[in-house]
Amino acid sequence: MSIKNTISNLRNELGDCKLIAVSKTKPNELILEAYEAGQRDFGENKVQELARKSEELPKDIKWHMIGHLQRNKVKYIASFVHLIHGVDSERLLTAINKEGAKNDRVISCLLQVHIASEDTKFGFDKEELIEFLSSSRLSALEHVSIVGLMGMATNTDDKHQVHQEFAKLRELSQALGVKYQFPNLNIQEISMGMSGDYTIALEEGSTMVRIGSSIFGARHYPNQ
Ligand SMILES: *Cc1c(COP(=O)(O)O)cnc(C)c1O
Repeated sequence: MSIKNTISNLRNELGDCKLIAVSKTKPNELILEAYEAGQRDFGENKVQELARKSEELPKDIKWHMIGHLQRNKVKYIASFVHLIHGVDSERLLTAINKEGAKNDRVISCLLQVHIASEDTKFGFDKEELIEFLSSSRLSALEHVSIVGLMGMATNTDDKHQVHQEFAKLRELSQALGVKYQFPNLNIQEISMGMSGDYTIALEEGSTMVRIGSSIFGARHYPNQ
């Protein structure tokens, strides 16, 4: 199926849930094909690739940083990034705040929560997150805005487990949204779901899915 048709089918299926087209490793020509189908939100997981593509491609694209982000690389994307999905520590959030200040902007972020059973996935634990949000430290960070949570489920065929993990994220998001109200905390978005598990994520209340291979085809990494 063409990229255009895939995007239009996904749109119908997703309804109000936002589609982030994950274009990592893919060339500009394919991104432009999606762009011509009306897609404006794209996700990348490498800082250099993100910065290069944002230079080369249309300026009305909203770029999402979806991968693990190192503190010393925030400066390369701080001036233009639309949303940083994987904020997995207070130190990283503080670094983003600093670069936000330098660029005179408020950078939107999602806090990544560790929901998978695998311990390889980054993110806050629930207790850690609650401790941080209960503290006054967040209010000092005036150049970031926390607009929601992000999570990745375990890579497993066990659908029941994936349901449970996404449900955990939704419940946490609802609980936090009610409990904590700071000016720079407005928990609305739940970024969960990729090509293999987005239908489950949708059923569990995802507001943003990050889909790559279903749109652009499998990724080929050289030398791997
Ligand atoms: C690569 C990636 C995706 C998209 O994965 P697909 O399986 O290709 O849809 C989503 N989220 C993150 C964090 C990723 O790194």
